[in-house]
Amino acid sequence: MDKFNPAYEIQNLSFFGEFGGVNPSITDSATYTFLGAQTMTDTFDGNAEGCFLYSRHWNPTNKYLSDALAKMEGTEAGWVTGSGMAAITCAILQLCNSGDHIVSSVTTYGGTYAFLKNYLPKFNIEVTFIDPTDLDAIENAVKPNTKLIYTEAISNPLLQVANIPKIADIANKNGIKLMVDNTFTPMIISPYKLGAHIVVYSMTKFINGKNDAVAGAICGDQEFINSLINVNDGTAMLLGPVLDPMRSSSILKNLYTLHIRMKQHSKNATYLAKKFKELGLKVSYPGLPEHAGHELLNSIMNEEFGYGGIIAIDMKTKEAATAIMEKMQEKNVGYIAVSLGYFKTLFSNSGSSTSSEVPLETQAKMGLSPGLVRFSVGLDNDIEQTYKTIAECL
Ligand SMILES: *Cc1c(COP(=O)(O)O)cnc(C)c1O
Repeated sequence: MDKFNPAYEIQNLSFFGEFGGVNPSITDSATYTFLGAQTMTDTFDGNAEGCFLYSRHWNPTNKYLSDALAKMEGTEAGWVTGSGMAAITCAILQLCNSGDHIVSSVTTYGGTYAFLKNYLPKFNIEVTFIDPTDLDAIENAVKPNTKLIYTEAISNPLLQVANIPKIADIANKNGIKLMVDNTFTPMIISPYKLGAHIVVYSMTKFINGKNDAVAGAICGDQEFINSLINVNDGTAMLLGPVLDPMRSSSILKNLYTLHIRMKQHSKNATYLAKKFKELGLKVSYPGLPEHAGHELLNSIMNEEFGYGGIIAIDMKTKEAATAIMEKMQEKNVGYIAVSLGYFKTLFSNSGSSTSSEVPLETQAKMGLSPGLVRFSVGLDNDIEQTYKTIAECL
C-alpha cells in the first residue's frame, strides 16, 4: 500500500468559484431557497443530497473546508466549528450520556482539562485521568460504562507522544471510541489512519497559521458527522458553534500552504532544539533521539513533515522563565503570547498560563515544571541568527 500523504490528498482538490474563480465562492447566506416545498421537507429528513437548508447546519463554504480536512485526515467526513473547544466539547457530548465514563490523558490543553474535570460532572459523566504513555493504565481504567478514550497526539505542553495504534487496539477491544486532538501535529500524524475513530482540531493554531481567527474541526465517519448535525438531537446542530463562512474561506486558502509551513516549523524547531541541548539546557523536543517518544513518533509519523514546531525548555523557576521571555521579546525573537502555530515565534510559561487550569499539585505530578517555557517556533528564514539572539538572552 502506498503511504498516506495528507498534502497530496489536499493538492488533488480543486473547488471552483462562480465565474470560474480559482477559489470557491463564499456563500454568505444564513438560509437557502427551495424550488419546491417537498425538497425542503426532504432536506429536513436528511434525504436531499446537495441541498442546503440553514447555515448552522451546513454552509457551502464550510463544506469545502470540511471536505478538504476530511481528505487530509483520510476520514469520510468533517465538520468545522467556531473554535477548537467547540469541536472537542461537541464531539465528546455527542458520544457520552449521563452516567458514562471517559478515560483521558491527564496532559491535555488546559481548556480540555477544565471541561473534563469541572464541567462534565454537571452531566454526571465521570473521567479517569491517566498518563497517556502508560498503556496498562489506559487499559485498566476502562470500565463497563466507558464510552471514550481521549488523548492528544502530542501532548501540551509536555510533548508526550501517544501510541495511537496501541490505544486504538484497547478501544476496539472494548467496543469504545478513541478521540485524538491533533492540533500540534497536522500532516505529521494522521490519527485516523492509525486507528483513531475521531480527530479533533483547534484550527486556530497551525492549520490556519495566521492567528487571525479562532476555529476548530471534527473529522470522522460520515455516520458520526451526520449524528452531530442531526436536527433533532445533534450536539453541534443544537448547541450551534458554527464557523463563519468568511473565515472558512480564508482558512481553506491557508490549508493549501500547511505542508510547507509544517516543514519549516519542524526544520527550525529541530535546529533550535539541538542548539539548546548543546548549551546544556533541559530541552524537550520529540525530534531529539533522547526524547521518550522519539522512536514511537518515528514509527507513526508522516516523516517528510518533520517533528513539529513545539519545543519546551525547563528554566527551573517561573522567575527565570519570565526573565528570558522578556529579553527574547525585547530582541524581537518573538512574542510572549499563548497559542501556537504562528509565523512568528511565540513563547509562554505553561504552568502559569495555558495549563493554569491544572492544579499546581497535578502539574508537579505530571512533571510540568514551573519554569517550563513552551516555544512555538516560527517560520524564520534565518534560524541561525534567531538562535544567536536567543543565546544572548540566556
Ligand atoms: C488551543 C487548543 C485547543 C482549543 O482550541 P481553541 O481554538 O482555542 O478553542 C484545544 N487543543 C489544543 C491542543 C490546543 O492547543
